[in-house]
Amino acid sequence: MTSTMENTRAEQSGATREVHVAVIGSGFAGLGMAIQLRKQGIEDFVVLERGDDVGGTWRDNSYPGAACDVQSNLYSFSFAPNPDWPRTYSEQPEIFAYLRGIADRYELRDKHVFGAEVTAATWDDAARRWDVETTAGAFRAKVLVSGAGALADPSYPDIPGIETFAGTVMHTARWDHEHDLAGERVAVIGTGASAIQVVPAIQPRVGSIAVYQRTPPWVIPRGDRPTTPFERALYRRFPAVQKAVRGALYAGREFLVLGMAKNRRLLAPVQKLARTHLERQVRDPQLRAAVTPDYTIGCKRILISNDWYPAVSAPNAEVVTAGIAEIRPHSVVTRDGVERPTDTLVLATGFHVTDLPIAHRITGRDGRTLAQVWDEGMVTNRGSAVAGFPNLFLLVGPNVGVGHTSMVYMIESQVAYVGEALRAMAVEGLATLETTPAAQEAYRELIAQRSAGTVWLGGGCGSWYLDRHGHNTTLWPDFTFLFRRLTRELDRENYTGTPERETAGVAA
Ligand code: NAP
Repeated sequence: MTSTMENTRAEQSGATREVHVAVIGSGFAGLGMAIQLRKQGIEDFVVLERGDDVGGTWRDNSYPGAACDVQSNLYSFSFAPNPDWPRTYSEQPEIFAYLRGIADRYELRDKHVFGAEVTAATWDDAARRWDVETTAGAFRAKVLVSGAGALADPSYPDIPGIETFAGTVMHTARWDHEHDLAGERVAVIGTGASAIQVVPAIQPRVGSIAVYQRTPPWVIPRGDRPTTPFERALYRRFPAVQKAVRGALYAGREFLVLGMAKNRRLLAPVQKLARTHLERQVRDPQLRAAVTPDYTIGCKRILISNDWYPAVSAPNAEVVTAGIAEIRPHSVVTRDGVERPTDTLVLATGFHVTDLPIAHRITGRDGRTLAQVWDEGMVTNRGSAVAGFPNLFLLVGPNVGVGHTSMVYMIESQVAYVGEALRAMAVEGLATLETTPAAQEAYRELIAQRSAGTVWLGGGCGSWYLDRHGHNTTLWPDFTFLFRRLTRELDRENYTGTPERETAGVAA
């Protein structure tokens, strides 16, 4: 209510609202940051959210079957456990509800301006402020924190003729719930984490489903089950038990790093598990061959599903490997010349991850955007700060991604780091805090060294983990507890600061 009023006020008056901190986005990252600000006694902040509710990617990805492939006891804030998760691996509605509950519990809704898409954020070096233009008015902030995330903007495939398609086109991240797929001939493009969830969910009710596969994924069984009333009561009565379960899940998942980043041979048992799963669920030798990957497991995200192979083996399903040549108004044509009549196109084609759209909208001290500065590859200090962009902090930015465990753990590490930066600014009376090019270069070197020899670079696949230069600019290439150690305190020596006094002098 208040946020709507604030929106209206900002729009009507055309006035610029001044805040200490502006946070972009209200997914796990934005909400986590808002809670951290509150914890530090910073109340003068705003969360700019382009949607009409909190939740980020968990609000937007509401396609049938959407769920998390990390257990909820781990994929949640450490300081806000939920004893009432209905399943061990939650589905999108529960995670969305959890995030909405967080916003209510920490009374964060009043801090939001909804419908506020950031169109431009420009550093004003004379005033030492960020000028933030949004679709709901203008803001001026001392500190800008981007929690826009990497899985925010859908990537649409550039297939010849796609714009001529006369049926319905839906990206998994922009699902049209009004559209009834019953009996339709559906084409699904992609076989990533989203596709393997949506296909089993819609296959039983469509007329036919053609899955256009470019690269087959490795898939392991999903150990999902409903939680029991006993478990829930236990967690409620003894929160320490849930904490211990969380710790065990965390530790178990970190073992995967040994195989992915240290010694690829250790991935052999995981690959064997996936191969057995495939062979058990796919009997048809032709289909088996089509869905068997030719790269080391872990090179792309390891997917978990018990119903993917049964769904693509169903009589009304087909896995098409020929590659799409063109799309016509009522069909999809593959390179082998086969034309498949199609009513609806489902694009399960992922997101802009290595070319983050928000990077085009943030302009630093020398007038260049983040995207321009990153043209040769995304570089940061600790995934959080960029030289030439004072008082800007990134959450879920470059090299903070993880494929094997919970992103929320990484987000909490970063949020604490940004909190330390803000504390340093307050204690030292700083107008600006900016990381140095040398620190950024050292960090780039560290990431490159730790990425060498990992399965992501050497596993024999192409993936969005790597940028167009073949560099890992998305994943944290080591144990996540090492990232936490690296971000526990502010590496103050890697930052330059301008005292407020000096600013006053400059302005005067
Ligand atoms: P994705 O992993 O990027 O997969 C996109 C799929 O589309 C790939 O199979 C890709 O093929 C294919 N593709 C892209 N462009 C294409 C084109 N022009 N022609 C044909 N095929 C094309 O996207 P996603 O499945 O949406 O998943 C993205 C990320 O979201 C995941 O890695 C994960 O981090 C997250 N996610 C998580 C969950 C979860 O359970 N926690 C669920 C969904 C998504 P290639 O492999 O050949 O490139």
